[in-house]
Amino acid sequence: MKMSDPRRLRTRQRFSPPILWIIVLGGPLVLTALILTYAIDAAAWETSRGLLPIPAGASPSAPVPESSPTASPPMSPSPTSTSPSAPPRPSTPEPSPTLPPAPTPYPFFQEPLPPADGSPRALQVPILMYHYISNPPSGADRFRLDLSVRPSMFEAHLQYLRQAGYETVSLSDLIFHLTQGRPLPPRPIVLTFDDGYRDAYEEAFPKLLRYGFQGTFFVLTGRADEGDPRYLSWEQIRQMSEAGMDIQLHGREHIPLNGRDEAFLFYHIIGGKQSIEAHTGRPVRFFAYPSSDYDQNLIRFLEGYRFWGAVTTAYGADERLENRWVWPRIRIRGTDDVEKLAWKLSLLKTAPSP
Ligand SMILES: [Zn+2]
Repeated sequence: MKMSDPRRLRTRQRFSPPILWIIVLGGPLVLTALILTYAIDAAAWETSRGLLPIPAGASPSAPVPESSPTASPPMSPSPTSTSPSAPPRPSTPEPSPTLPPAPTPYPFFQEPLPPADGSPRALQVPILMYHYISNPPSGADRFRLDLSVRPSMFEAHLQYLRQAGYETVSLSDLIFHLTQGRPLPPRPIVLTFDDGYRDAYEEAFPKLLRYGFQGTFFVLTGRADEGDPRYLSWEQIRQMSEAGMDIQLHGREHIPLNGRDEAFLFYHIIGGKQSIEAHTGRPVRFFAYPSSDYDQNLIRFLEGYRFWGAVTTAYGADERLENRWVWPRIRIRGTDDVEKLAWKLSLLKTAPSP
């Protein structure tokens, strides 16, 4: 029997397969693990310094709330949106109620009076005051007869005014002249029409256009709101404004506005102003006192809301900045033919001041 070599035996025991595998395979594995650990730590450090982009979907240190305030539409605030002091949401969210948008006051023009250059000026521009341009109905009382200029007579008036060299201007033109000296034509005249009767559209408007004249119409917005067929509709008012007519305010209703409180005046005056401006897109700057009734409270109201002036039914032609809340006019009566009109105008000095 042959004895085993003891050296070979020792060698075989020293390099048995399990130990060999540990050395051959285990070494590289540990090394790889060490390298990977270092690489992950380095990436985390760089990310924390903001040096690497945060992949999409990854959460930074602070969690993003489920619905941020900016996610909701700006005009519909949601009462369920989270806030720091709000209690935690229930697990099943309640349906959020749709709230109506917060009421915003309807805008209206509030233009300050053009700044005055300091030069005192005075005008005697005739501001004619018409009412009806129509044949009065049979059985009309004396008031209606007095207020009604027949369409043929009205046309004769326009013909005379054109031949005499008159050119129509607006009340704003007078203010721009008085404050800043803006030039006026050699023979300026303002044609006003009170109450906004339907014949303003059917008779006055086309005739004014034919003669190249501008009319200033003091309308009652309540009549247009109700669609009263005896008065101008909003569509007619819009068309007239588009064509260059000046639409101004006589009130919501034809009622005296002296001795009224602020809320009453706001409803009747600012309400009417807003309506006209909403329909025409042009500013309402002047007011014609219904029935020529006014007091200091009403004037203070108009001035506070930046009207530029107001007209009365007092007779005359006298326009200055100081009396701009009570500018007089020249009433045209149903009996005024061309000769009478010419006579009324001849009494005035119509050239504007230098
Ligand atoms: Zn009136």
